[in-house]
Amino acid sequence: MAIQFHSEAIVLKNMDYQEADKLVSVFSAVRGKIQVVARGVKKPGSSLRALVQPFCHVQLYLVKGRSMAVVTQGRMIDFYGNIRQDLFTAMQAVYMMELLDKALMDEVPLPKLFYSTHQVLRAMNEGCVTPLLLRYFEVRLLVELGYTPVLDRCVNCGSKEIGAGLFKLAAGGLLCPQCARQENGLIAVRPDSLALLRLLTNASAHVIDRIHSNPASLNQLEWFLEQYLEYYLERRFTMKHTIRWLKKKLPVNG
Ligand SMILES: [Zn+2]
Repeated sequence: MAIQFHSEAIVLKNMDYQEADKLVSVFSAVRGKIQVVARGVKKPGSSLRALVQPFCHVQLYLVKGRSMAVVTQGRMIDFYGNIRQDLFTAMQAVYMMELLDKALMDEVPLPKLFYSTHQVLRAMNEGCVTPLLLRYFEVRLLVELGYTPVLDRCVNCGSKEIGAGLFKLAAGGLLCPQCARQENGLIAVRPDSLALLRLLTNASAHVIDRIHSNPASLNQLEWFLEQYLEYYLERRFTMKHTIRWLKKKLPVNG
């Protein structure tokens, strides 16, 4: 029997699928990540055409039979037009979508992460396009997937002596000097980067533009989060490399 349901959703990506149709990966508020079929969407004049663009915030009405859910109707909640006006900002939003698409399991609802994603996109659309906002998003993703880094004690023995900032990726936390002695390949995280990471773990999106940071701590945090995300998600985030390439090519936004 077919089930009908509806949900707010953020479009992660769309792929060609049968003649006039597209297969769309969405992060829905109600069911988490799902794949849906948008029929006839490649035909000119299709009412769904605009709704399947990456990082659109939409309301979808769906019907699910034995196979994939099919979109029966949809409504745009936010197209995030300002983000789309700037190539670099749009690439960052697409990078976020790629992270979600690769990291989320199908049909696991994550309402808090859905809300954070929405908040970050809205902030970007309102002109807050800072590296810290992207880092905030990456940290939210890690926290909501259960990979919150342990930063207040030694992840191995619980000691509070963690001043050296030695981080063990495989354990997901800092080590005390005693435990660190038996380990190789630890990451030494700068104290100011650690302070930022602690802040981002607990902050909400609307305070991000009030957090002060220096370029060196931000750069290390970016690098650190990339290692951490790659370790836990075991994939390469191709958009990230594309963004780096773009940063070199474009004389905008640093
Ligand atoms: Zn220890």
